[in-house]
Amino acid sequence: MKKAVVLVSGGLDSATTLALAKEQGYACYAISFDYGQRHRCELEAARQVAEMAGVVEHKLIRMDLNSIGGSALTDSSIDVPQQPAEGIPVTYVPARNTVFLSFALGWAEVLGAEVIFIGVNAVDYSGYPDCRPAYITAYEKMANLATRAGVEGSGIHIQTPLIHLSKAEIIQQGMRLGVDYASTVSCYNPDAEGLACGRCDACRLRAAGFEAAGVPDPTRYQAGAR
Ligand code: ZN
Repeated sequence: MKKAVVLVSGGLDSATTLALAKEQGYACYAISFDYGQRHRCELEAARQVAEMAGVVEHKLIRMDLNSIGGSALTDSSIDVPQQPAEGIPVTYVPARNTVFLSFALGWAEVLGAEVIFIGVNAVDYSGYPDCRPAYITAYEKMANLATRAGVEGSGIHIQTPLIHLSKAEIIQQGMRLGVDYASTVSCYNPDAEGLACGRCDACRLRAAGFEAAGVPDPTRYQAGAR
Protein backbone atom coordinates (compact mmCIF):
# COMPACT_ATOMS: atom_id res chain seq x y z
CA MET A 1 0.00 0.00 0.00
CA LYS A 2 1.41 3.39 -0.93
CA LYS A 3 2.17 5.65 2.01
CA ALA A 4 1.40 9.32 2.63
CA VAL A 5 2.37 11.69 5.41
CA VAL A 6 -0.57 13.94 6.26
CA LEU A 7 -0.27 17.14 8.29
CA VAL A 8 -3.11 17.10 10.84
CA SER A 9 -3.66 20.20 12.97
CA GLY A 10 -7.02 19.27 14.47
CA GLY A 11 -8.82 21.82 12.32
CA LEU A 12 -11.47 21.44 9.68
CA ASP A 13 -9.21 21.65 6.64
CA SER A 14 -6.66 19.06 7.71
CA ALA A 15 -9.40 16.63 8.83
CA THR A 16 -10.87 16.87 5.34
CA THR A 17 -7.44 16.49 3.74
CA LEU A 18 -6.85 13.31 5.74
CA ALA A 19 -10.19 11.89 4.57
CA LEU A 20 -9.31 12.71 0.95
CA ALA A 21 -5.90 11.05 1.31
CA LYS A 22 -7.58 7.91 2.66
CA GLU A 23 -10.07 7.99 -0.22
CA GLN A 24 -7.14 7.97 -2.64
CA GLY A 25 -6.03 4.69 -1.08
CA TYR A 26 -3.03 5.85 0.91
CA ALA A 27 -1.85 4.32 4.15
CA CYS A 28 -1.82 7.55 6.13
CA TYR A 29 0.80 8.67 8.64
CA ALA A 30 -0.46 11.73 10.52
CA ILE A 31 1.88 14.38 11.90
CA SER A 32 0.90 17.14 14.33
CA PHE A 33 2.89 19.91 15.99
CA ASP A 34 2.88 21.19 19.52
CA TYR A 35 4.66 24.45 18.73
CA GLY A 36 3.51 26.51 21.67
CA GLN A 37 0.31 27.60 19.99
CA ARG A 38 -2.27 29.55 21.94
CA HIS A 39 -4.93 27.07 20.80
CA ARG A 40 -3.18 23.97 22.09
CA CYS A 41 -6.51 22.23 22.54
CA GLU A 42 -6.40 21.62 18.78
CA LEU A 43 -3.91 18.83 19.55
CA GLU A 44 -6.55 16.76 21.34
CA ALA A 45 -8.77 17.32 18.31
CA ALA A 46 -5.89 16.17 16.08
CA ARG A 47 -5.57 13.01 18.14
CA GLN A 48 -9.29 12.26 17.74
CA VAL A 49 -9.30 13.08 14.02
CA ALA A 50 -6.31 10.80 13.39
CA GLU A 51 -7.80 7.99 15.47
CA MET A 52 -11.20 8.16 13.78
CA ALA A 53 -9.53 8.12 10.36
CA GLY A 54 -7.62 4.98 11.29
CA VAL A 55 -4.15 6.27 10.51
CA VAL A 56 -1.25 3.84 10.68
CA GLU A 57 0.63 6.12 13.07
CA HIS A 58 0.18 9.58 14.56
CA LYS A 59 3.35 11.48 15.41
CA LEU A 60 3.37 14.56 17.64
CA ILE A 61 6.40 16.80 17.17
CA ARG A 62 7.21 19.29 19.94
CA MET A 63 8.97 22.57 19.25
CA ASP A 64 9.19 25.99 20.81
CA LEU A 65 8.08 28.65 18.35
CA ASN A 66 7.29 30.93 21.33
CA SER A 67 11.00 31.66 21.53
CA ILE A 68 10.71 33.32 18.12
CA GLY A 69 7.23 34.76 18.67
CA GLY A 70 6.06 37.32 16.13
CA SER A 71 2.51 35.98 15.92
CA ALA A 72 -0.67 36.30 17.93
CA LEU A 73 -0.65 32.50 18.10
CA THR A 74 2.81 32.20 19.65
CA ASP A 75 3.25 35.47 21.58
CA SER A 76 0.76 35.99 24.40
CA SER A 77 1.39 39.76 24.34
CA ILE A 78 -0.19 39.98 20.84
CA ASP A 79 -3.99 39.69 20.91
CA VAL A 80 -5.92 37.60 18.38
CA PRO A 81 -7.83 40.13 16.24
CA GLN A 82 -11.60 40.05 16.47
CA GLN A 83 -12.13 41.99 13.24
CA PRO A 84 -10.83 41.33 9.71
CA ALA A 85 -7.79 43.42 8.76
CA GLU A 86 -5.98 44.30 5.54
CA GLY A 87 -2.92 42.32 4.48
CA ILE A 88 -1.32 39.33 6.17
CA PRO A 89 -2.86 39.13 9.67
CA VAL A 90 -0.95 38.88 12.97
CA THR A 91 -2.14 35.27 13.30
CA TYR A 92 0.38 34.42 10.59
CA VAL A 93 3.13 32.36 12.29
CA PRO A 94 6.54 33.16 10.77
CA ALA A 95 7.72 30.31 8.53
CA ARG A 96 5.34 27.83 10.15
CA ASN A 97 4.45 25.74 7.12
CA THR A 98 8.10 25.64 6.03
CA VAL A 99 9.05 24.25 9.44
CA PHE A 100 6.12 21.79 9.48
CA LEU A 101 6.66 20.59 5.92
CA SER A 102 10.34 20.04 6.66
CA PHE A 103 9.49 17.62 9.51
CA ALA A 104 6.92 15.94 7.27
CA LEU A 105 9.51 15.70 4.50
CA GLY A 106 12.04 14.05 6.78
CA TRP A 107 9.50 11.56 8.05
CA ALA A 108 8.28 10.83 4.51
CA GLU A 109 11.81 10.03 3.50
CA VAL A 110 12.28 7.66 6.46
CA LEU A 111 8.96 5.94 5.77
CA GLY A 112 9.47 5.71 2.04
CA ALA A 113 6.33 7.77 1.49
CA GLU A 114 6.25 9.56 -1.84
CA VAL A 115 3.43 11.94 -0.98
CA ILE A 116 2.85 14.61 1.65
CA PHE A 117 -0.68 15.95 2.06
CA ILE A 118 -1.21 19.44 3.45
CA GLY A 119 -4.60 21.15 3.72
CA VAL A 120 -3.59 24.62 2.59
CA ASN A 121 -6.22 26.67 0.87
CA ALA A 122 -5.96 29.78 -1.28
CA VAL A 123 -9.64 30.70 -1.55
CA ASP A 124 -11.42 31.26 1.79
CA TYR A 125 -8.25 31.72 3.81
CA SER A 126 -6.48 34.33 5.86
CA GLY A 127 -3.93 35.44 3.28
CA TYR A 128 -0.94 33.54 4.65
CA PRO A 129 1.90 33.46 2.10
CA ASP A 130 2.79 29.86 3.00
CA CYS A 131 -0.64 28.65 1.88
CA ARG A 132 -0.33 29.81 -1.73
CA PRO A 133 0.20 27.61 -4.81
CA ALA A 134 3.51 29.31 -5.74
CA TYR A 135 4.88 28.48 -2.29
CA ILE A 136 3.88 24.81 -2.49
CA THR A 137 5.39 24.47 -6.00
CA ALA A 138 8.65 26.02 -4.78
CA TYR A 139 8.73 23.85 -1.63
CA GLU A 140 8.20 20.68 -3.66
CA LYS A 141 11.04 21.65 -5.98
CA MET A 142 13.30 22.30 -2.99
CA ALA A 143 12.26 18.99 -1.37
CA ASN A 144 13.36 17.05 -4.41
CA LEU A 145 16.73 18.78 -4.42
CA ALA A 146 17.23 18.41 -0.68
CA THR A 147 16.58 14.72 -0.05
CA ARG A 148 17.98 11.34 -0.99
CA ALA A 149 14.43 10.37 -1.94
CA GLY A 150 14.43 13.25 -4.40
CA VAL A 151 17.92 12.80 -5.80
CA GLU A 152 18.22 9.00 -5.92
CA GLY A 153 14.66 7.79 -5.32
CA SER A 154 11.30 8.34 -6.93
CA GLY A 155 10.82 11.84 -5.55
CA ILE A 156 8.44 13.54 -3.16
CA HIS A 157 5.13 15.00 -4.25
CA ILE A 158 3.13 17.51 -2.20
CA GLN A 159 -0.63 17.17 -2.61
CA THR A 160 -2.89 20.08 -1.70
CA PRO A 161 -6.40 18.80 -2.46
CA LEU A 162 -8.11 21.82 -0.90
CA ILE A 163 -6.05 24.57 -2.44
CA HIS A 164 -8.65 25.75 -4.94
CA LEU A 165 -11.79 24.88 -2.94
CA SER A 166 -14.00 27.31 -1.05
CA LYS A 167 -14.63 26.59 2.63
CA ALA A 168 -18.16 25.43 1.70
CA GLU A 169 -16.77 23.02 -0.90
CA ILE A 170 -14.27 21.68 1.64
CA ILE A 171 -17.10 21.01 4.10
CA GLN A 172 -19.16 19.29 1.40
CA GLN A 173 -16.23 17.00 0.60
CA GLY A 174 -15.81 16.18 4.27
CA MET A 175 -19.52 15.48 4.78
CA ARG A 176 -19.43 13.12 1.78
CA LEU A 177 -16.52 11.25 3.41
CA GLY A 178 -18.05 11.17 6.91
CA VAL A 179 -15.70 13.63 8.63
CA ASP A 180 -16.93 14.46 12.14
CA TYR A 181 -16.45 18.23 12.20
CA ALA A 182 -17.78 18.45 15.76
CA SER A 183 -14.46 17.06 16.96
CA THR A 184 -12.35 19.57 15.00
CA VAL A 185 -11.13 22.88 16.45
CA SER A 186 -10.45 25.89 14.22
CA CYS A 187 -10.61 28.79 16.70
CA TYR A 188 -7.39 30.71 17.35
CA ASN A 189 -8.56 31.83 20.76
CA PRO A 190 -10.59 29.10 22.42
CA ASP A 191 -11.29 29.03 26.16
CA ALA A 192 -9.79 26.50 28.57
CA GLU A 193 -12.45 23.96 27.61
CA GLY A 194 -11.74 24.34 23.89
CA LEU A 195 -14.92 26.27 23.16
CA ALA A 196 -14.64 28.58 20.13
CA CYS A 197 -14.69 32.38 20.41
CA GLY A 198 -16.85 32.93 17.32
CA ARG A 199 -15.03 36.15 16.45
CA CYS A 200 -11.51 35.38 15.19
CA ASP A 201 -10.68 34.93 11.48
CA ALA A 202 -10.70 31.17 11.77
CA CYS A 203 -14.11 31.12 13.48
CA ARG A 204 -15.62 33.53 10.94
CA LEU A 205 -14.36 31.60 7.90
CA ARG A 206 -15.51 28.32 9.40
CA ALA A 207 -19.00 29.56 10.31
CA ALA A 208 -19.46 31.17 6.88
CA GLY A 209 -18.40 27.89 5.28
CA PHE A 210 -21.02 25.85 7.11
CA GLU A 211 -23.67 28.42 6.24
CA ALA A 212 -22.72 28.49 2.53
CA ALA A 213 -22.60 24.68 2.45
CA GLY A 214 -26.07 24.46 3.98
CA VAL A 215 -24.72 22.26 6.76
CA PRO A 216 -25.60 22.85 10.44
CA ASP A 217 -22.52 24.26 12.23
CA PRO A 218 -21.46 21.65 14.86
CA THR A 219 -18.83 23.94 16.41
CA ARG A 220 -18.93 24.19 20.21
CA TYR A 221 -18.97 27.91 20.94
CA GLN A 222 -18.44 29.83 24.18
CA ALA A 223 -21.63 31.17 25.76
CA GLY A 224 -22.64 34.36 23.97
CA ALA A 225 -19.94 33.89 21.31
CA ARG A 226 -22.22 34.38 18.33
ZN1 ZN B 1 -12.28 31.93 17.32
